[in-house]
Amino acid sequence: MSARAVSASDHRVVIGLEVHVQLETETKVFCGCSTDFEDSEPNSHTCPTCLGLPGALPTLNEAAVEGALKLAAAIDADVPDESYFHRKNYYYPDLPKNFQITQYDSPLCQDGELTVTVENDERTIAIERAHLEEDPGSLQHAGGGGGIDSAEYTRVDYNRAGVPLMEIVTEPDFRSPDEVRAFLAKLEEVLDYLGIFDSSRDGSLRIDANISLVPEAEVDADGRIGPDALAAANRTEVKNISSHKGAEQALAYEVTRQKNALQRDRTIAQETRHWDESRGVTVSMRSKEEEKDYRYFSEADLPVLRVSDWAEAIEIPELPDARRERFAAEYGLSSSEARKLTSTREVADFYEQVADRFDPDVAASWVADTLLGELNYRDMAIADVESRLDEFLHLIELAETDEITAKNAEEVVLRAMLDDGRSPDEVVEREGLGTTDEDEIESAVATAIDENPDAVEDYHTGEDGALNFLVGQVMQSTGGSADPGTVNELLRAALDG
Ligand code: ADP
Ligand code: ZN
Ligand code: MG
Repeated sequence: MSARAVSASDHRVVIGLEVHVQLETETKVFCGCSTDFEDSEPNSHTCPTCLGLPGALPTLNEAAVEGALKLAAAIDADVPDESYFHRKNYYYPDLPKNFQITQYDSPLCQDGELTVTVENDERTIAIERAHLEEDPGSLQHAGGGGGIDSAEYTRVDYNRAGVPLMEIVTEPDFRSPDEVRAFLAKLEEVLDYLGIFDSSRDGSLRIDANISLVPEAEVDADGRIGPDALAAANRTEVKNISSHKGAEQALAYEVTRQKNALQRDRTIAQETRHWDESRGVTVSMRSKEEEKDYRYFSEADLPVLRVSDWAEAIEIPELPDARRERFAAEYGLSSSEARKLTSTREVADFYEQVADRFDPDVAASWVADTLLGELNYRDMAIADVESRLDEFLHLIELAETDEITAKNAEEVVLRAMLDDGRSPDEVVEREGLGTTDEDEIESAVATAIDENPDAVEDYHTGEDGALNFLVGQVMQSTGGSADPGTVNELLRAALDG
């Protein structure tokens, strides 16, 4: 090693993200084409505007702006009095106009933040900006190796061209890939609560991650790093990351690669790298393009956007952290229960409707443990049973009023409800689960005693298993619907009396 070689441990990992999220709207951001094209033929959801035909004009979609304003409210960002659109010029086959309509110096969301918890440590990540733009089309590499660099040919589909996108740019505030993962989870949760994002949609979240190593001497006691040191650090931008796990893996790979380079006294090239998910490596794509390469100029086909009043009036639902705290306080739930029951807005809404009718603890145990467990096992989600809330409430009522045993409610009725779509009453009827009243149990007890004189004798001579055997006989003749405690009591009374 040369005398100048630096130890990688003298450096701090610094990461900043550019996250693209698709806003869930019915139509595209600048035309009336439907965004519901998941199972459609390629290029079937297109028009002159999203195909970029000469003379076609964009019209801004109000719902997309509303989504952006909701995001601004959720991340505590400022909305400028005037916002406008720009053209970002570049050639790529997925971009039919040869420019992307985006925002440049007046993004709709400015100076926001999002707080994440990593190993009980709260970290506030500053969000520099979030702006509205149009998604390009999508390319499908085919033939040959099928990869971006090995395919024989490439198909282009403009169905996605014009889907509203928010590009969310964070400050370089992350100090580890773990924090990135926590941030992405939190961001998705917030977007889900706002109802402006569909995480199940393919490619709905795409991440570019910037990463550098900054000398430890530049980091102050609070972990802050000055702008000069940030600018001086050579960073790579890793593109093509499409999942939280992918982000964590790509960044972990990049941390190791950069540390190795430092240790060997090699400079880290300022470049754009591609995350190859299947091989688990980042590969160099090109030297980093600069802003001036894009020849930004204002989009004259769209007027100035003035939305300050609208931004002030915008209403957003209670966000996950607030809801979690309220659940703990209002329903007396533990923090882990509260977390589980607020994991999505649907789960939280469902729980509150159950807690409205029953004791909050009973409701929590039914929803968090029983229902979510059974749904999870079947690869289902609350959304699949939301419309059956009344049936679910009825099931809990049957169990709570001892019409059926708790065990049957959970293991027979609920499972049949989910597997066959039957109502709880149907299952109870079909399986004969209604709990037997005391008269019936008493007559079953009498029969069991009559029919099993040997067991009765064994009981009187103090043989341990005899009582259990008789309980079993009664349970069997009542179809498992008798309460075992009652059976036990009545049997003893009859035998001892
Ligand atoms: P550019 O001019 O290249 O667009 P920006 O300052 O706009 O650079 O930052 C782009 C992204 O790079 C942001 O997500 C930011 O957090 C991140 N970034 C900036 N400096 C660093 C750094 N030293 N290390 C890692 N990421 C950084
Ligand atoms: Zn269109
Ligand atoms: Mg930038």
